[in-house]
Amino acid sequence: LDRNPGEVEFHQAVTEVFGALEPVVQRHPEYVEAGILRRMCEPERQIIFRVPWVDDAGRAQVNRGFRVEFNSALGPYKGGLRFHPTVYLGIVKFLGFEQIFKNALTGMPIGGGKGGSDFNPAGRSEGEVMRFCQSFMTELYRHIGENTDVPAGDVGVGGREIGFLFGQYKRITNRFESGVLTGKGVSWGGSLVRPEATGYGTVMFADRMLQTRGAAMDGQRVLVSGSGNVALNAIEKAHALGATAITASDSSGYVVDEDGIDLDLLREVKEHRRGRIEEYARLRGGRSRFVSEGSVWSVPGTVALPSATQNELGAEDAQRLIANGVTAVAEGANMPCTQDAVELLADAGVLFGPAKAANAGGVATSALEMQQNASRDSWSFDFTHDRLEQIMADIHDRCLETADEYGAPGNYVAGANIAGFVKVADAMLAQGLV
Ligand code: NDP
Repeated sequence: LDRNPGEVEFHQAVTEVFGALEPVVQRHPEYVEAGILRRMCEPERQIIFRVPWVDDAGRAQVNRGFRVEFNSALGPYKGGLRFHPTVYLGIVKFLGFEQIFKNALTGMPIGGGKGGSDFNPAGRSEGEVMRFCQSFMTELYRHIGENTDVPAGDVGVGGREIGFLFGQYKRITNRFESGVLTGKGVSWGGSLVRPEATGYGTVMFADRMLQTRGAAMDGQRVLVSGSGNVALNAIEKAHALGATAITASDSSGYVVDEDGIDLDLLREVKEHRRGRIEEYARLRGGRSRFVSEGSVWSVPGTVALPSATQNELGAEDAQRLIANGVTAVAEGANMPCTQDAVELLADAGVLFGPAKAANAGGVATSALEMQQNASRDSWSFDFTHDRLEQIMADIHDRCLETADEYGAPGNYVAGANIAGFVKVADAMLAQGLV
């Protein structure tokens, strides 16, 4: 940790993963002898670059761009790009580190990486976002490729930004290389179900966890945080499975809607008007209300799906959830629960699906997009959806089997960390000291 001062989120992620590895290291001393743990913490390559662009007022702006190519033991680096003012190296490294094990869990041939910028898209015009994306790609293009490194979206990077990035890549390289980015539009190489996949997959995972206790999503009262890509699609899937999602949030506060979130209205407010969450309650009326203080975790619910950002659910939130009778928590966002919160939930017997398992549906479907690109094919919605469902079921079962094998029955955190780690470690051993 001394080698990476100030990178608090990265330290947190490494501590969380390595904390679960004691039984693995005892059984496999060869991993330690080969320096696997130390090598895993050191990215294979880190790129930091200047992103200059011109705003609508004609002023020069400068942001910082990142791409951390963490681990390619299983395949090309794969992971999203985040555009948010809080982005710095520690966030990109935490996300990239998590991505290694998540991608391994999917069973797909993809390594781990992540990138982004401290650019804030909020309040920027479409022209400004495009010029920023073009400048970002003008440096990034030389580091990526369908067999090298395949970025995708994350917070602040959706279909619009992927379009601008892809356009610039194509222009610079003079190649229509579909497999270089995922999350593309369906008419130019994108995959059906990719936009929905993370949120859908998180709910599928929660459903499967509940089934181990003879329950299901049907009839649950669901708390969702966030109102971006993951949250909106988690709400959609929750409703499709017979549950009622009653909350959503953004950085300005949250809404509670006792009649169930009206998804069409929420999409209209967040995706089309790009407005604040308060507008939802104002337009919806009835039994919905906006709350500017606190968090959705104080609202009574039976299933919680944190889907906004890292460390948004702390120990006090966990205590409230437990007191209100929550039975399952599945992480839609990356590392939304603090370590204290995870321990409290586990001690209370709450089913807990960690991000690297529960939200892996997004990157798994990105890998399906790469498969379609490689074969110049495009699959139907139903076929792709069924593949996603099977992948989430397999991830769920692999976590449980691995947890059993290593003496931690029912512990999805241990199962996910160990299963992901062992797969990557074995590939690194086989490939020698690189
Ligand atoms: P979006 O940008 O679409 O939405 C993010 C949502 O979270 C917005 O409602 C945003 O509110 C809120 N949010 C972001 N930062 C903060 C903050 N600091 N405090 C409070 N609210 C915040 O992102 P996604 O839905 O794509 O991503 C959400 C999470 O899911 C992230 O952790 C991401 O890494 C993870 N994830 C996403 C995947 C994907 O396929 N998109 C795949 C796997 C994981 P506001 O608009 O006010 O900022």
